[in-house]
Amino acid sequence: MSVVKKAGILKSLVGGLLSCGLVFASSVSLAKAEKIFVSIGTGGPTGVYFVAGNKICDLMNKAANKNGDAVRCNAPSSGGSIYNINAIRSKELDFGVAQSDWQYHAYKGTSKFKGNQLESIRAVFSLHAEPFQILVAKGSGIKSWADLKGKRVNIGNAGSGQRGTFETLMKAYGVDKSYFSLATELNSTEQAGALCNGNIDAFGYSVGFPNAGVSQATDGCEARIISLTDAPVKKLVDERPFFNFTKIPTGTYSTVTEDVTTFGPRATLVTRADVSDKVVYGLVKAVFEGLDDFKKYHPAFRVLDPKTMVKDGLSAPLHPGALKYYKEKGWIK
Ligand code: GLU
Repeated sequence: MSVVKKAGILKSLVGGLLSCGLVFASSVSLAKAEKIFVSIGTGGPTGVYFVAGNKICDLMNKAANKNGDAVRCNAPSSGGSIYNINAIRSKELDFGVAQSDWQYHAYKGTSKFKGNQLESIRAVFSLHAEPFQILVAKGSGIKSWADLKGKRVNIGNAGSGQRGTFETLMKAYGVDKSYFSLATELNSTEQAGALCNGNIDAFGYSVGFPNAGVSQATDGCEARIISLTDAPVKKLVDERPFFNFTKIPTGTYSTVTEDVTTFGPRATLVTRADVSDKVVYGLVKAVFEGLDDFKKYHPAFRVLDPKTMVKDGLSAPLHPGALKYYKEKGWIK
């Protein structure tokens, strides 16, 4: 577990400094506290997860400073949902943002988590919807899934949520990577540049909107987002509790000149059962008490509502530290 207690190290460090006659007042006060380091895994730096994780940490650190708790939260960029869940398993991370489909599969041991179940994954809350968006290059002539046949398509880096969801989508259509003339594995920071430079014809990305990485392609080089509503996609949404249809309204990006409808998961925050109730309670309290501030931080967060955040998209059991706070608030009976 990376909730590391460093007091011992600090004490010996301060002891060493004392013996050298080099002590500073701040070092002495640090030595008194047992500092707890908390890490939240996010996604690529141009995504929404990175903003979410860093704002959660900001609220948590501010609350800790105010209450005199020795907690320090950080939210590094990462490969995305599946990477985060696996890093929670290995205790490299305590929390991670993850798509609701991958939360479900990790807890149930299905799909990519078959034979690799993470029964101890726990839900904390959910965030924004993440419609699966296929961005197609200007002049590519691609208007639907069928037009992607024989095209150069970025299916995403291993470890990202969109890579997994792209694979789910290919399966739903009964195809594999060979459907495309080239299937690249670029990450979310690289894909828009590759599209605008003409190196690929399309990429898939499940992400909240509006989003910087998508606007780099739409506003940057007139890429369009295609709707995904035909029978195989309807079946996916009907059969899977973690997918919904979402509308990306006209005007979201300069090339969205009519509403785009596509399926997708929801972003969620997950942790592990053995992360302390105190830490999880502290995190959720800081986020919900600072929710007005949080919602202003990114346009994808504007619609967040505590009543849906404590249940939508959550298939693993709630962590007891989160449940305690939700019960106190009366959001869960
Ligand atoms: N949904 C993406 C993933 O799970 C990340 C999106 C984002 O960074 O906002 O990898």
